[in-house]
Amino acid sequence: MDNEVSMTHPAPTPSRALATEAVHAGRDDLASLGLHAPPIDLSTTYPSHDSRGEAMRIDAFATTGARPDGPPVYARLDNPTTGRFETALARLERTESAVAFASGMAALTAVLLARASQGLRHVVAVRPLYGCSDHLLGTGLLGTEVTWTDPAGIADAIRPDTGLVMVETPANPTLAEVDIRAVAHACGTVPLLVDNTFATPVLQRPVEHGARIVLHSATKYLGGHGDVMGGVVACDEEFAATLRQVRFATGGVLHPLAGYLLLRGLSTLPVRVRAASTSAAELVRRLTADPRIARVHYPRIGGAMISFEVYGDPHRVISGVRLITPAVSLGSVDSLIQHPASISHRIVAEGDRRASGVGDRLLRMSVGLEDVEDLWADLCQALSDGPLPSVRPAGRTLQPSNGPTPAGR
Ligand SMILES: *Cc1c(COP(=O)(O)O)cnc(C)c1O
Repeated sequence: MDNEVSMTHPAPTPSRALATEAVHAGRDDLASLGLHAPPIDLSTTYPSHDSRGEAMRIDAFATTGARPDGPPVYARLDNPTTGRFETALARLERTESAVAFASGMAALTAVLLARASQGLRHVVAVRPLYGCSDHLLGTGLLGTEVTWTDPAGIADAIRPDTGLVMVETPANPTLAEVDIRAVAHACGTVPLLVDNTFATPVLQRPVEHGARIVLHSATKYLGGHGDVMGGVVACDEEFAATLRQVRFATGGVLHPLAGYLLLRGLSTLPVRVRAASTSAAELVRRLTADPRIARVHYPRIGGAMISFEVYGDPHRVISGVRLITPAVSLGSVDSLIQHPASISHRIVAEGDRRASGVGDRLLRMSVGLEDVEDLWADLCQALSDGPLPSVRPAGRTLQPSNGPTPAGR
C-alpha cells in the first residue's frame, strides 16, 4: 500500500504523443509494482500507529492542499486509484494537475466555491452552457452572481470582484464555438474556465490557448461507456490545491471504482473520439443535403456531437428511432439523441433558451461507434415518420456554429 501511494506521482517523462499518454499516463509505476492493470484501492481509512505523523500530514493538507505524501489518512482527502485518473487527465490536457469530483456539476460547484472563498463571487458567462451549469449560475444557489454576455462583451462585463469567466466550446447543445485565445485575452488576469466536455483533449486543449481552468463532465467522453458518473477540473497546481481543500470540506469525491473506470476510459479516448467523429461528419454531410432538415450545426473542430433542426415534429424523431437511444447524456459508445428544449435545457427559462439558439425544433445527437450506414438508416426512418415539408425554403445550408443561431423556425 505504501508503495502504491508513494509511486502515484512519477516524475513526468518528456512529452509523449496524446495516444501514448492515453494508455500510459497514470500507470508509469505499474511495472515496478509488478502489475499490469492498475490496482483499485477501496479503503475509506488508512491505519497508522503514528498519530503525530498523521497530525503533521493533516496540517500539511490543511495549509497547502497538496496531495498527501504517503497514505491519505481518510478517503475524502485523497485516493490513489482516483489519483491515477487525475494524473492521466492532467497529462492529456497538458496541465500541472487535475482534481476529480463525483460529477461534472460537483466539479463546477467546487470551482465556484473556491473563487467565492477568495471573495470573488461574480462570474461572467457566455450562453449557451449545459442546462444545469446555466441553472447553477443563474439561480445564485452558491452565493455567486452571474453576468451573461457574448464573447465580445466579456472585457466590459468584468468587475473588481469577478472571479471567473466561463465558456463552453463547442457549446451544449448548439455546438457554437468560442475563440478561446481571443476570450482569454479579454479576461486579463481573471481566470478563464473552458468546459471541454464536448471537444475532449483529443480535439482541443484549452490551456494551450490561454484558458486557466478546464472542466469536464467525465460522465461523457472520458468514461465513454455510459456507466460511470464523474467530473474533473484540470488546472495549475496552485488552484488544484484549493480545489482539493474544497473537495475535502464539501465531500464531492469521486468513488475509486469510478476513478478506475475513468482511467480505463481514457485509454481508448483518442480512438473512440476519432472514429465517432468520422461517422458524425458523414451524417452531417447527408443531413445537410436532406430536404427534411432545416439546418445542421457542426463545429469547425469536428467531433462526435451534431445537432440539427427539423421542419417536422422533433418529438416524432425521438419516438421513431430504433437503433439510436432516445436519452439525455452523450459520449457513450452507442448513439444517443434528445430534444434539448424538453430535456437537457428544460431548466433554462424559455426566453433565455431561445435567445441562445436552443430552438424548439433542435435535436442533439451524440454519435457513437455503430456503423454509419445503420445510423443513417435509423435516422432516415425516424425522419420519415414526420411530415415532409410542403415547401422547401431556399438558403438551407450547413451552418458553421460560430455563434448563437436563430431560434427554431
Ligand atoms: C453533462 C454536462 C455537464 C454536467 O456533468 P454531470 O457529470 O452530469 O454532472 C457539464 N457540462 C457539460 C457540457 C455537460 O454535457
